[in-house]
Amino acid sequence: MPRIKLLSEALQNLIAAGEVIERPASIVKELVENSLDAGSTDIRIDILKGGKRSIRVDDNGDGMSREDARLCFLKHATSKLGSAEDLHRINTMGFRGEALSSVAAVSKMRIRTSEKGQTTGTEIQIDGGDVVAEKDATSVGTSIEVRDLFYNTPARKKFLKKDNTELHHIVDVVTKLSLINFEVSFTLRSDGRDLLRLHKASGLKERIIQHFGMEMIDTMIPVSMKDETRGISISGFIASERALRRRRANQYLFVNGRPIMDSSLRHAIYKAYEGFANRDEHPLYLLDIKLAPGSIDVNVHPAKREIRFLEMDALYDDIRDLTENALKEQYDSSGDKGHKADKDRMVSHFADLTSVNGAALYSGKVDVSERPERMVSEPAGLDYKVQRRYLYLGDVFAAYTENGIFCIVDHHAAHERVLYEKLRGGIGLDVNGLLFPKQVRLGAKEYLAILDHIGIIKDMGMDVEDFGGNTVIVRSVPSMINESDISVILEDMATGLTDIRKGSPVEDIRDDLAKRVACHSSIRGKRLLGNEQMTQLLKDLEGTDDPHHCPHGRPTRLYFSQDDLKKMFERM
Ligand code: ADP
Ligand code: MG
Repeated sequence: MPRIKLLSEALQNLIAAGEVIERPASIVKELVENSLDAGSTDIRIDILKGGKRSIRVDDNGDGMSREDARLCFLKHATSKLGSAEDLHRINTMGFRGEALSSVAAVSKMRIRTSEKGQTTGTEIQIDGGDVVAEKDATSVGTSIEVRDLFYNTPARKKFLKKDNTELHHIVDVVTKLSLINFEVSFTLRSDGRDLLRLHKASGLKERIIQHFGMEMIDTMIPVSMKDETRGISISGFIASERALRRRRANQYLFVNGRPIMDSSLRHAIYKAYEGFANRDEHPLYLLDIKLAPGSIDVNVHPAKREIRFLEMDALYDDIRDLTENALKEQYDSSGDKGHKADKDRMVSHFADLTSVNGAALYSGKVDVSERPERMVSEPAGLDYKVQRRYLYLGDVFAAYTENGIFCIVDHHAAHERVLYEKLRGGIGLDVNGLLFPKQVRLGAKEYLAILDHIGIIKDMGMDVEDFGGNTVIVRSVPSMINESDISVILEDMATGLTDIRKGSPVEDIRDDLAKRVACHSSIRGKRLLGNEQMTQLLKDLEGTDDPHHCPHGRPTRLYFSQDDLKKMFERM
């Protein structure tokens, strides 16, 4: 008897569901995309308990006949793809016919639908992929309700996060899809509360205003380009210098109406901001890219979050140039030249600092060897002339006074916070190529974990390649990493990665890795920082999201006001 057997369809579906359906937000995405494909102009989403209890999407689209309603939740059942050639000219959001079957396999699903023009519709109830009831129904369009997600796969259910976290992801998905489909009205309700109520908008701009308000749009610059011979157009909005943020948020790329993530295209945008943004500032942007369907491959990611471009280099240049020109134009036309001029002045001041300091132990962003305009880390207007003295106690603590406050810093913890945020954001990292690439041999599990996440690791400034035989080769590392620490750091990263649950959001993975690397690389006790280095470290710390804590939550600084001291000395 052969040992290999074909999996039953039910089991196949359970496995496939794992790829498409990571969490409630993936279901919302698939259902809304189906409603959009069905030509709906009004989509209503109702969520209970972060989508774990129930997700319902009602639309006013084309609906389905009874025959189609019976087919739609079967594996590879789709009305959107007829032949292999169709794969090269996809203009619908879906095409694989696996969303409904995947969702149906891991939940209790109820479909109510009627075809346009028909008076009687169909209602079908499916539990874990099996039809349990079918009857007539009257409805307009389609309503799909998904209850008790993962009720039959308890292991996966356990991995769902708190209701609020799941809801957050749902809001994210609906935000993206509703931004680009501005001509459709959307409602999102959670536990009876309206979270979004968007009327049909006249264009992208109006939809952005509906989401984020007038204030935000006022700080954004409209951009657009079109090259008919190449069949490409890009339009949208990018942040002006006034709209830069400390954290990466509200960055949206759409290709042919599909929200995508693409680190190369994001890089093109950041490239354009060099000289306009400090290294730890992030632009908001929203770009609607239209390309000939034949020049992209959308069939590369299970959840279709990533796509492949035939002409990536040209697109990269288009996006960079479009962004850069818009920024330049705005800069030239605005009377207020304050920001950039300030930067230039500060750059020269920084240059002085480093040259005095020679090889800075903590050089932070003071490396002026390349592209001076990028090296400024502080908002304009800060006083760089602070000449502070620091007192060192042992090799971990330094103390200073500022505005009558006595402050003690754990500079190890402070440095860890700064490094962590740089690594997490992948921005402002100085990367060193290694003269002799380093081979690191890992355990099989660790090796695979590293290979599986090589993109994320690269984004953090570590150029790692597969060398075969459980070995990877490291060609460059962030400059804060000591060459002798590379193996230990990779092993530690791998351990973290093997603990990570399948399907964890990239942000969580990056976060975990950044913590680990920062911890290895931050200044170890022993070494004392010079005055400038300490001042720079404190400035960088100020610019982080949470200057008061290291990534593990320990304090970075303690403050004592005179009143505090008086109390301690029992003077009051
Ligand atoms: P895909 O979207 O890749 O075709 P799905 O599993 O998401 O696969 O859906 C299967 C089919 O069910 C679709 O091709 C479509 O014909 C039909 N369908 C799903 N949702 C809707 C809807 N809201 N309105 C009309 N038809 C729908
Ligand atoms: Mg679909």
